[in-house]
Amino acid sequence: MARISRRKLLRKGGQAAFASSVALCSSSPLVAREKKPSVKGVDYYEKLGLTPFINAAGTYTVLSASIMPDEVQAAIALASKQPVNLNELLDKSGEYLAKRLRCEAALVTSGAAAALVVGTAACVTKGNDSAILGIPTDMSALKNEVIIQKTHRYGYDHALRNCGIRFVEVDTLEQYEQAFNEHTVMAHFFNAGEGKIGREDWVRVAHQHGVPCFNDAAADVPPISNLWNYTQMGFDLVTFSGGKGLRGPQCTGLLLGRKDLIDAAKKNNSPNSNTIGRGMKVAKEEIVGLVAAVDWFLSQDDAAMEAEYRKRAERIAESLKSIATVQTQVFVPAVAANHVPHLLITYDQNRIKITGAEVMEKMREGKPRIELNPSTGEAPASAGLPGGPNTIVVGVWMLQPGEEVIVAKRLREVLEAAISA
Ligand SMILES: *Cc1c(COP(=O)(O)O)cnc(C)c1O
Repeated sequence: MARISRRKLLRKGGQAAFASSVALCSSSPLVAREKKPSVKGVDYYEKLGLTPFINAAGTYTVLSASIMPDEVQAAIALASKQPVNLNELLDKSGEYLAKRLRCEAALVTSGAAAALVVGTAACVTKGNDSAILGIPTDMSALKNEVIIQKTHRYGYDHALRNCGIRFVEVDTLEQYEQAFNEHTVMAHFFNAGEGKIGREDWVRVAHQHGVPCFNDAAADVPPISNLWNYTQMGFDLVTFSGGKGLRGPQCTGLLLGRKDLIDAAKKNNSPNSNTIGRGMKVAKEEIVGLVAAVDWFLSQDDAAMEAEYRKRAERIAESLKSIATVQTQVFVPAVAANHVPHLLITYDQNRIKITGAEVMEKMREGKPRIELNPSTGEAPASAGLPGGPNTIVVGVWMLQPGEEVIVAKRLREVLEAAISA
């Protein structure tokens, strides 16, 4: 660790020298900027031979999740023009976000998955800086058990296991209460998961044992208030994806929570080298982009967003209703994730001779290319909704205004062609 502190000293020295040289010439601008002619960007999607699509799916990672609002794109373009100190930017953006999101502290990470890594690393290494270098391989002297509901084991738990922890699975509240011991380092909760133990009990029992608890709410805005609901409920750490409902850069995430844990997470994160988070660097453009996205999102209104999505879904439904046997229903998924109006379309496959999966493929191959929600063709029946192969799900919330008209027209063409086929 001597090496790290020497480097820190060097860095501080460098900053001091920089500050004094700036002070010397503070009366004149640092750089005389010339007005450059504006550059027209190259369309690299075209140049590389990619076909972008209309996103009628939702905020799916592999589909690049979301499009940033103009305000966010403009803030990123501005931020890209001047160098800054990354630690200063992380500190200042964290303070700003914590204030806006009503929590003690905040950190911009390279995604919710990265927030899971550095948040878990924070719990494992807090108060023990030499452990920062040691995880995930040198765990022998460290607490390493994370309690989780069996039903909350999910596609992102590798992020926690990256820190050398092992999961202790519980099912009932009684098992949860008995799972704590001297090795317990964290209790993890999957916000959109289902299980016998609710959020309040999860927090209460963890705190009785002095153990921090983490809530993964990556895909769980809107509603806007979720951005503070879970920290105010007592979760010590909470994460949201920056690029899903928030519509910031896809490679960003929010880690919100207790100041001591956020400070510990920072120590485990880029730009510090030889840390578990060093590979999860967030650039200045992305940090600023997420702050701008939070500002943008907080200026929105839940009811207005919901009304807009409902209107889009109803517009598509309206244009399909005259096709024989087609039934439509606007629904909001029952879980906390993607909790916005979607359109469910069902039909009699004896009349319309095509499966949902085939419709999805035809929409993907058509012009323009359109991606439907991935539960199309296999939507599970739930909460009074029909499911099965003859289902089409349209995620309308990531459509650009007006695109619902194009989606409706193409769906109509595909379904009608399957009648005469
Ligand atoms: C999307 C998602 C993540 C990962 O988020 P990124 O921002 O892409 O890293 C983690 N957990 C859950 C529940 C998610 O839905």
